[in-house]
Amino acid sequence: MRRPFIAGNWKMNTTKAEGVALVKGVAEGNTAGDSVEVAVCAPSVYLDAVVTAAAGKVGVGAQNCYHEASGAFTGEISAAMAKDVGCQYVILGHSERRHIFGESNADVCKKVHAVLAAGLVPIVCVGELLEERESGKTSDVVAEQMYGSLAGVTDEQMKSVVIAYEPVWAIGTGKVATPEQAEEVHAGIRTLMTAKYGEAISEGVRIQYGGSVKPDNAAELLSQPNIDGALVGGASLKADSFLGIIAGANAS
Ligand code: PEP
Repeated sequence: MRRPFIAGNWKMNTTKAEGVALVKGVAEGNTAGDSVEVAVCAPSVYLDAVVTAAAGKVGVGAQNCYHEASGAFTGEISAAMAKDVGCQYVILGHSERRHIFGESNADVCKKVHAVLAAGLVPIVCVGELLEERESGKTSDVVAEQMYGSLAGVTDEQMKSVVIAYEPVWAIGTGKVATPEQAEEVHAGIRTLMTAKYGEAISEGVRIQYGGSVKPDNAAELLSQPNIDGALVGGASLKADSFLGIIAGANAS
């Protein structure tokens, strides 16, 4: 059994006071207990405050990091810094990082290794553009991103990796993939993992779906056999809607 994992990606939103209030609202309102793993990924300048406010009741993640451990990399944070302030997760290869900031699979891969070396959980995002889906390239794109981003990850390390399938056309657009469309890609991702890591490891890895997840579609998406959680953008910015998604995961 894979424990559902719901993570909020706040992106470049909230003030410090809003972030602190939001994580407190999630911690106080979450009635799913240990049945659902819950995390929020806050802007890096607020991570310390959000970890303190979460008080161990909600996990906290960074939205990105650099692959080097330290040095002259102005504006970057390292995985060790994220860990130092109490993060447990780092989102890597989000489509906004790939498409706005030009991150390649090789860049994402270096970050995955840095995050694993720091003892944190990488949430590795993959997903196709609309034109790639429409031209029948979804499975090729996802395979290239999966294998490129996870190159050199050992069997043992793979056990702590989380994959997030986020079709780019569904992120922040209100256009959610149907449960069948999402499940088809999730099952394909699991097959790719099985080919590389074997069934025992592949069956334990959580694959989140991301792209316009809301309280009213979460339970149906999460009831699919290979959808093990959600990476949530817009709907993670209000405690009520994020809690509704956590409840949907608990019910599925
Ligand atoms: C995301 O940014 O990871 C995301 C899935 O956003 P939204 O839920 O707003 O589509």
